[in-house]
Amino acid sequence: NADLAMFRSKSEGRNNYHFYVAEMDAEVQARKIIERDLRLALGTEQLELHYQPLVEVTTGEIVGCEALLRWRHPTRGWVGPAEFIPIAERTDLIAPLGRWILHRACLQGRDWARDGLPPLKIAVNLSPAQFKHHQTLLAMVSDILDQTGFPAEQLQLEITEGIAMQNIEATIEVLQQLREMGAVISIDDFGTGYSSLNYLKRFPVDKLKIDRSFVADIGRHADNAAVVKAIVNLGHSIGARVNVEGIETREQLDFIIAHGVDEAQGYYFSRPVPPDEFARLVREKSPYCMTCETP
Ligand code: C2E
Ligand code: MG
Ligand code: MG
Ligand code: MG
Repeated sequence: NADLAMFRSKSEGRNNYHFYVAEMDAEVQARKIIERDLRLALGTEQLELHYQPLVEVTTGEIVGCEALLRWRHPTRGWVGPAEFIPIAERTDLIAPLGRWILHRACLQGRDWARDGLPPLKIAVNLSPAQFKHHQTLLAMVSDILDQTGFPAEQLQLEITEGIAMQNIEATIEVLQQLREMGAVISIDDFGTGYSSLNYLKRFPVDKLKIDRSFVADIGRHADNAAVVKAIVNLGHSIGARVNVEGIETREQLDFIIAHGVDEAQGYYFSRPVPPDEFARLVREKSPYCMTCETP
């Protein structure tokens, strides 16, 4: 990046040089501070997982949840995962963080079962950096399942299209092994990346999660409707279930019901909530009414 600034300084004049360097410095500094604070946060109560319901479209039942990382920073308040996970990924922090997330989610699942909740699927996001070391990843998943006793069949691992389409042959093999352990593989934010459909049919994939951008402006963009329809058909044709995330309105829900989507997730049902609140939702709220004005 320093080279880039130098290059720009030559082509755009001297004054810009100082500007770019100052701006980059500030950015690098901010990143370093987050990195330092995150290192301190690991293993403390600053980090928590919240859980957002996965709702079966035909029945309105909560069939599971997605675990989403939350960081309560001591001075900055809540910091969103989109802000700090990319930083963790560029450092050695992603390994312990990723392990902590999976461990915490599996422990939670086991505790819910002990508390008498019905078997719930728990979806955990894997980051691209975790996917670089295949053997480490496989060993981690299998260790954690052993340690916690959480049933592999209830574990769903979410990867992005970017991960899936990198190093395709090796990825197919790892996914197959994860699946042999019993885990379910989902492709997250589907439709935003560059999946090769040729490869997709060879992928051991159980679920496609359509990115919420495709339902964000339903009613105004007919082409998005066509994309959703196409992805549902595609998913079903390879034997995968289809989820749509980011359902916020009745209109969006009607739309995905009409298009044969299997599973829904979004603020319309619930925001991601702390574990006790999620347990309460499962006990008291289920199933959602899929035809009512308010669910
Ligand atoms: P994602 O895996 O696609 O997660 C869905 C995101 O959409 C979550 O944001 C969730 O809170 C948000 N969301 C759910 N329903 C709605 C809705 O109706 N409207 C809107 N506007 N948003 C909705 P969040 O929790 O901020 O996470 C952002 C991203 O950060 C995640 O996207 C995922 O890529 C990453 N992330 C979160 N937790 C973890 C984690 O534990 N590990 C890894 N590797 N990545 C994580
Ligand atoms: Mg996800
Ligand atoms: Mg997603
Ligand atoms: Mg997303």
